[in-house]
Amino acid sequence: MPTIVIATHNKNKSNEISAIINNRYTIQTLADFRDAPIVKEDKDSFVENAKKKASEIALWLSQKTLNKIPHYVLADDSGLEVDILNGEPGILSARYASETANVNASDAKNNAKLLKNLAGIPQPDRGAQFCCVLALTKVQQMEIKTFKAICRGQISKSETGKGGFGYDPLFIPDGYQKSFAELGSKTKNAISHRAKALSSLADFLLKPQEDK
Ligand code: IMP
Repeated sequence: MPTIVIATHNKNKSNEISAIINNRYTIQTLADFRDAPIVKEDKDSFVENAKKKASEIALWLSQKTLNKIPHYVLADDSGLEVDILNGEPGILSARYASETANVNASDAKNNAKLLKNLAGIPQPDRGAQFCCVLALTKVQQMEIKTFKAICRGQISKSETGKGGFGYDPLFIPDGYQKSFAELGSKTKNAISHRAKALSSLADFLLKPQEDK
């Protein structure tokens, strides 16, 4: 079975991906490579950050002496883009309310800052989207393929719900009256930016080898 290294320490992300690709690939994560370099997310788009993570880890793996070189590295980058804020917080989503460079802020602080920046903006003008980019690199060839997806919605005027993470309590996806934090993981995982990007990735990975 071909091996994919997911460039994350996040078990939830790797479990989600493993479930989708139906055990046709052996999955490893950065927990299997404790000396892997920490890649700085300093590019100005989700696509470039995800590509940077995937290619730097792939290059590092290709230079290591391993019994078996993994076939692919998969990295992701995601965040929230608010229309009236010209796409903010965007690539800075995790660090939006942070006062220290490169340090994430708590979800509570990020959500409070977003509500403050949208104070007085009426509902039709609170449109936003979550965006997720997955970058897949073939380790031997260093070819990169990206899979991008969005989920459109509105930013509510106050937080509702306890589920999910990040901006979920403020995000009401189009076609629903409740926030991602209220809708629960089953509904979120059917319509989210991450679910859609993973579904395109799965279509690609499950294609016969010669078509890739
Ligand atoms: P990353 O994909 O872990 O880099 O996520 C970047 C940041 O974007 C997170 O810390 C959250 O603030 C936000 N974000 C990304 N995806 C979601 C989501 O599905 N729900 C809520 N917030 C999200």
